[in-house]
Amino acid sequence: MNDVLLIVVSHPDDEVLWFGAGIDGLGDLGNRIVLLSLTNASNQIRKAEFAMAANFFGVPGYLMDYPDGGILRWDKSIIQKNIESFINNNNLNVLGIITHSHFGEERRHPQHILSNEILSDYCRKKNIAFGFFSCHDLIGRELYKGVGHIFPLLFEFKNHSLFEKFKCLAKQCKLFWRFKIIGGYARRDFTFNPSRRDHALSIYASQFLGLSEYQWSNANVHTLYADKKLKRIIK
Ligand SMILES: [Zn+2]
Repeated sequence: MNDVLLIVVSHPDDEVLWFGAGIDGLGDLGNRIVLLSLTNASNQIRKAEFAMAANFFGVPGYLMDYPDGGILRWDKSIIQKNIESFINNNNLNVLGIITHSHFGEERRHPQHILSNEILSDYCRKKNIAFGFFSCHDLIGRELYKGVGHIFPLLFEFKNHSLFEKFKCLAKQCKLFWRFKIIGGYARRDFTFNPSRRDHALSIYASQFLGLSEYQWSNANVHTLYADKKLKRIIK
């Protein structure tokens, strides 16, 4: 059995955009890493790019084939089952799983947020260490944004049925809880060597038009937020 950290991304290119520096940094520290993309196994171009990126980082890369698209929902329990089969079939001893932040990075991409939900829930059930990555400082940024969630609550409350009010309140509590747990994570910054970053980005030629509008594609610092267990495991 191989002791590994499993890095799960929604789409090929996410690993470069949001956590390339972390893959380099964790590898340099002696951690063994396996990359997994949840989408695009049957897209030959993106599959080839992902393989090149994995090769660039010197780690094994695998893809699943869930539909790629902002509004497409995934079945949480099916993905969790398939992650478990993937781990068993590849004979991996997964010490920890790292995925997107619960704010979804670029424009709060719903599939990034969903990946966080699915993997954090999976780790809780299986008692596996968990962490998430980001290329901007979530603590300052998201706590500030959190204040903005209080005001819509007041408007939403006005004309709704009792059931909807309850649902709305539950949603706000969940958001509040998420803001709070951010404080419980250990933060670790990794710096991307700019020439390595540019090289890694150039692998994703098919995504270049999209990438050019992301100011974050120029980020030099990628941050890992690790829970207590993951903090102890990472070398
Ligand atoms: Zn993505």
